[in-house]
Amino acid sequence: MTFFYFATSTSPHYLLLLPLMRSQEFDIAIVGAGPAGTTLALSLAPTGKSIVVVEKAHFPREVICGDALSGQVNNVLKRMPDGIYQDFLHTVKKTPSWGIRFFSPGQDPLDLPFILTRTEGQEPPGYICPRVTFDDFLFQRLKRYSNIVIHEGEAVKTLNRFEGGIELSTDHRTIQARVIAGADGLNSVVRQTFSERQLDKSYFCMATRAYFEEVTGFHPENFIELIFLKELLPGYFWIFPEVNGRANVGLGLPFKDVIDKRICLKVVMEEMIRTHPLIAPRFRNATMVTKPKARGLALSRNLKNLSGERYLLLGDAALLVDPFTGEGIGLAMASAESAAAVIRESFESGDFSAATFKAYDKRIERRMGMEHSTSAAMQRFARYPWLFDRVVRKANRNQAFKELLASTFNNDNVRKKLVNPLFYARLLI
Ligand SMILES: Cc1cc2nc3c(=O)[nH]c(=O)nc-3n(C[C@H](O)[C@H](O)[C@H](O)COP(=O)(O)OP(=O)(O)OC[C@H]3O[C@@H](n4cnc5c(N)ncnc54)[C@H](O)[C@@H]3O)c2cc1C
Repeated sequence: MTFFYFATSTSPHYLLLLPLMRSQEFDIAIVGAGPAGTTLALSLAPTGKSIVVVEKAHFPREVICGDALSGQVNNVLKRMPDGIYQDFLHTVKKTPSWGIRFFSPGQDPLDLPFILTRTEGQEPPGYICPRVTFDDFLFQRLKRYSNIVIHEGEAVKTLNRFEGGIELSTDHRTIQARVIAGADGLNSVVRQTFSERQLDKSYFCMATRAYFEEVTGFHPENFIELIFLKELLPGYFWIFPEVNGRANVGLGLPFKDVIDKRICLKVVMEEMIRTHPLIAPRFRNATMVTKPKARGLALSRNLKNLSGERYLLLGDAALLVDPFTGEGIGLAMASAESAAAVIRESFESGDFSAATFKAYDKRIERRMGMEHSTSAAMQRFARYPWLFDRVVRKANRNQAFKELLASTFNNDNVRKKLVNPLFYARLLI
């Protein structure tokens, strides 16, 4: 190890030494340690490949989010190595959630359980867990593996290809890797450097979120609640029951509407809490315990251009958020699982070409394509209050139809049913 290797950002000579620093070399570099990045690193850890994770924040770190973990999160955790799912069940504080409650624009409720037939002792199908806790749980697991090196508090600034790999630079070091995974969220530097897949404003949403205490009226099985508002469709207000008697409360709208209608999300959210007939009574004794904070989310428009020579994009970096529900954590983790499989294959064959990594795009299309199309269609339907009201009324009258709708939320693949045109015909009859 050289003297230069030990230089730190606090060293007075640091900036002079930077150009002379030797690159660190790894098989795989992962940019970002959110659910996508940590799931990828943990899935690849048993391969023994040398992995570096570069993360700009210091953990534990806050993320503005609804904190709802879908069944997909559970499913991926179950397949991850070294008993991580059991540790999640037994060590992480979280609220078990058994379903989803919608309020239609006409204010009719519709309860959809995540599981239609329960078995004795069944684990809850979903959870609500503060991201500060969940993300840190995954992040700390990385430290158990000697082949994973973590650089925390360092943002990747630039990436360059060289013969045999990709080099990335932070303010503190340069790193060379044979494969790079972009798991660096919405404004991904990896995506912006290499990919044609770029953010499309018409699929961009803004959401604000605050924590409250003493909100009342939750479903006894902690259903997450989405309240659709006639004047703001397809936007919705959410209330999710959290641990320690807290509620995660938020409002999300298409960015275009926020700009065109000059909407201040925080003002509208506060107004609804004061005046909306469904919401106000539940907040009568509630206290806001954190200030509302906003963050953007890019809904998935298509599933193209997710990889290229020596790189793959995961989760929000790949713009993979569900266009109807805004769910992204499960999709981020599922994309990481698929990426791990393709990266393993690329090392086995020694081929890191764009053609090899196209296998990743194909896996994502197979895994998420149906669900993506259905969600995009549901998002379009949700713009019509009369149709929305009709679907909710029909589901409340017709158990078979309700179960069909419920099945869309209860595992990775059932949305296939909804691609059947008969389903859409049934909405109208
Ligand atoms: C208001 C709101 C509510 C939401 N609610 C839900 C919900 O309830 N359930 C759900 O499933 N999804 C929800 N989502 C979506 C969800 O938050 C994301 O889809 C999810 O965080 C994606 O995970 P990720 O690992 O891809 O990205 P992120 O969680 O964004 O992680 C990316 C990581 O990369 C790091 N990073 C960024 N740039 C760099 C860089 N240059 N160098 C190094 N590191 C970098 C960041 O610090 C971060 O830790 C919500 C989104 C919003 C905005």
